[in-house]
Amino acid sequence: MKIITPALFIGHGSPMNAIEKNNFTKSLISFGKKIKKPKAILVISAHWTTPGTFVTGSAKPEQIYDFYGFPKELYQIKYSALGNLRLAKKICEQFKNIHIKLNSEWGIDHGAWTVLKHLFPDADVPVIQLSLNFNKTEKEHMAIAKKLSALRQEGVMIIGSGNIVHNLALISWERDDGAAEWAKEFDKKIKEYLLADNKLALANYSDINEDLKERAVPTNEHYLPMLYIIALRQPGEKLSFIYEGFEHRSLSMRSFIIG
Ligand code: ZN
Repeated sequence: MKIITPALFIGHGSPMNAIEKNNFTKSLISFGKKIKKPKAILVISAHWTTPGTFVTGSAKPEQIYDFYGFPKELYQIKYSALGNLRLAKKICEQFKNIHIKLNSEWGIDHGAWTVLKHLFPDADVPVIQLSLNFNKTEKEHMAIAKKLSALRQEGVMIIGSGNIVHNLALISWERDDGAAEWAKEFDKKIKEYLLADNKLALANYSDINEDLKERAVPTNEHYLPMLYIIALRQPGEKLSFIYEGFEHRSLSMRSFIIG
């Protein structure tokens, strides 16, 4: 029987997590030490949304500093993982029915590298990214993810990087683990659905409560990477939380592993 590589969802939060030592980054570092190195990593980042679905196809992907106004130190962090053109081409070929196209311009964005820096600090595993097609519905995204599950049998670790609760308009720049009541309420509901493996409820999150949903998921690009990972979950497959908590009042850092 083939071994199925675990899949992860990581709540990435502020880009500052790349350089800060806090409970969240400490838990990523210790978790990274425990997991087996995969052959390759495929990241679905909230920060790459496109018309159509693309996979990065450069042998040496450029590290993208896609944020503004942060300390100089953050722009000096290097994460120099290689790409995997062969795997990217294979994905385009293998999943023809999803119409995945090769993209040689996008590299590794901060949704990917601020997390990978802690999980795989040596940058010795090739990294490719898959974009989020902004013309697809939640259920269509989950259907794409389900097809990709074959990659887990080939040693590819699929990592979704976003945030279950993500509202930059209601952010507080005071860093602490406190959270707004509405953020806690939405996150708690999602936790229940994750534990129950209720994929349908996770896709229909807007049914929870419209006001709550408007605040927790004002736009869905940070929520969608979580749906990709949950769609990959096989019947009976274990889900464990890597981290539970909040930062800046309106970001849920809830992260988990499947498998
Ligand atoms: Zn983000």
